[in-house]
Amino acid sequence: MAPVLSHTKLDLEKIRKDFPILSQKVNGKPLVYFDNGATSQKPQSVIDVIVKYYSEENSNIHRGVHTLSQKATEHYERAREIVKKHINASSAQEIIFTRGTTESVNLVAHSFADWINAGDEILVSLTEHHSNILPWQLLCEQRKAVLRTIPVNADGEVQTAEIDKYLSAKTKLIAITHVSNTTGIIVDVKKVIAAAHAKNIPVLLDGAQAIPHMAVDVSDLDCDFYCFSGHKVFGPTGIGVLYAKKHWIDKFAPYQAGGGTIKTVSFEKTEYAEGPLKFEAGTPNIEGAIGMAAALEYINVIGLDNISAYEHELLEYATHKLKKVEGVRIYGDVQNKAAVISFNVKEIHPFDIGTILDKQGIAVRTGHHCTQPLMQHFCIPGTIRVSFAFYNTKEEIDVFITALEKAVKMLS
Ligand SMILES: *Cc1c(COP(=O)(O)O)cnc(C)c1O
Repeated sequence: MAPVLSHTKLDLEKIRKDFPILSQKVNGKPLVYFDNGATSQKPQSVIDVIVKYYSEENSNIHRGVHTLSQKATEHYERAREIVKKHINASSAQEIIFTRGTTESVNLVAHSFADWINAGDEILVSLTEHHSNILPWQLLCEQRKAVLRTIPVNADGEVQTAEIDKYLSAKTKLIAITHVSNTTGIIVDVKKVIAAAHAKNIPVLLDGAQAIPHMAVDVSDLDCDFYCFSGHKVFGPTGIGVLYAKKHWIDKFAPYQAGGGTIKTVSFEKTEYAEGPLKFEAGTPNIEGAIGMAAALEYINVIGLDNISAYEHELLEYATHKLKKVEGVRIYGDVQNKAAVISFNVKEIHPFDIGTILDKQGIAVRTGHHCTQPLMQHFCIPGTIRVSFAFYNTKEEIDVFITALEKAVKMLS
């Protein structure tokens, strides 16, 4: 069911009712879910579509002539269309379903292996999630190539203005995040892509944290690859997307081989399918794709511009209130941000604050957020991270701030 909305404001009461988990009590207190950067909650429409799939439509796709199989195939391929529209790819044939961002990055790293030689360079930024570092580190170790990093400043902003300094004839690919999962900082990826393309260097964007918060247009960005996860955008786990420009899809060899990836098989010569099916070996996560598409449809009814505007309000409100708490230090307190705040209070260990907040029903993330190089840059072991979604409210932020102040008093 689509939510009813006024034109300018989100109907929060209605929206919150769409997410059944939000009305839960945790440790006797109403749940305040501020861990959307780790995974997002699911609206009833996503849950319903998965239940309906298994209750009425379950069947294997692409190979059956019978009615259910054709129906399942139709829904799966329609999901690809919905993703295509959502990110404005030029064709659904550029949308590969994967298990998530991590697998999407691995698929590209694996596919580049044959073209990387000793001494070549791959460029990532210092703010990357481990999922956008380790596949490249492995690749570089295997091919005796060099993994280089674009630095960040004291606030954690990627130094995109100096990008040219890091590009050379040896640079084979740039892999960079669109939005930092730790600080929420939005990276000026257009600048990176323009500089890279001027030198014929392809660019992969890790969009795991951008897709839930803002409208993303891969044609306008002109990136070569765009990766994201279903579960971070209000869909199920175990499904994700790799957008790849068509010429890369044509050029890449199959990542894994198996059923579904082929045109014809014989022991003399196997001919692989064209397009995304070449990369979707075996029976895929059918209900995942359908569920993710339902999630994208859900947020499109609300409108990503409305979501961004409202989340920005939440971000400003929470930042303002946090700064009034004695001893708070925010990491990445800059202008251009998605609704994510990383902070510490005095010398208190983030884990201790997180544990006390949990007793009050407040879910935050503590630790290094899979960005240890960035933590090393800030010279800290970890932070407390609050990450908002459009179903969060200012009242929840008030509850969080009161609980935080109490925790700080107890721990200092
Ligand atoms: C969560 C996240 C990933 C990894 O996503 P998975 O769904 O765990 O594969 C990669 N990059 C960023 C920026 C993330 O936030």
